[in-house]
Amino acid sequence: MQIVSTVAEVRTQVKAWKREGLTIGFVPTMGYLHEGHASLMKCARERCDKVVASIFVNPMQFGENEDLDSYPRDLDADAKLCEEIGVDLIFHPEPGEMYEDGFCSFVDMNGLTKELCGKSRPVHFRGVCTVVCKLFHIVTPDCAFFGQKDAQQLAVIRRMTKDLNMDIEIVGCPIVREADGLAKSSRNTYLNEEERRAALVLSRAVFLGQRLVGEGATSAEALITAMKAEIEKEPLARIDYVEAVSMETVEKVETIEKNVLVAMAVFIGTTRLIDNFIV
Ligand code: AMP
Repeated sequence: MQIVSTVAEVRTQVKAWKREGLTIGFVPTMGYLHEGHASLMKCARERCDKVVASIFVNPMQFGENEDLDSYPRDLDADAKLCEEIGVDLIFHPEPGEMYEDGFCSFVDMNGLTKELCGKSRPVHFRGVCTVVCKLFHIVTPDCAFFGQKDAQQLAVIRRMTKDLNMDIEIVGCPIVREADGLAKSSRNTYLNEEERRAALVLSRAVFLGQRLVGEGATSAEALITAMKAEIEKEPLARIDYVEAVSMETVEKVETIEKNVLVAMAVFIGTTRLIDNFIV
């Protein structure tokens, strides 16, 4: 497995692979890898001849008061996990390699980013789209793998790829959870023992929502009210949002039906966690 930090090195290797007729699978990440990331890499390993993973804490997708500086990093552990899975190349650039002096071009989106995380993180998706677009141009993959854990991001990337005619298949992968239900996240490391226990309220609300839909619930409002009531039982939890939206347009819906995304963001102490299910 190679670990490279420049765009030129990625291009040279990918071109050599393409000359041999090999397909490229790509998994973009911010590192501090866990089994959620590993599931995307394993999926890429199965579907493509070569697997490229990027590890880049992208400054552009963090708001001013967010956790860019404290975001956890551990390249050695990440490299070990990638090696075990059979990743062929890790791209780990410095911010200056991605954003040279004078950088002033962005990929912005008018739809899909007004609700959910876009509401409370106004610059987030512009940063995500810009960096993913750049990474797609650098890696030129056949397939790229994203987790349903960040369901709005998955919808946004699918839309961007379609709108901008990027010839890349976007593969969505299911949420990987801890044994007790908490969705795996690099940010779970911020939680102390008491908060870690309190954080289970997110998956409890997801499982409750899934059960109610399974029992035939069709009113988005009633479903959201029930899920919020479950979350509010936990004193350490503060709801950012619980919403039901179309997975395609990320616009609010009134009726729960196929392809509706029920998503939430909840602060546990100062840590903002997300979870969701798709009907
Ligand atoms: P991040 O490093 O948090 O930017 O995540 C990189 C990729 O891993 C994104 O496509 C995430 O959706 C995905 N991911 C993160 N956590 C999980 C999880 N628990 N299950 C599945 N995919 C995940």
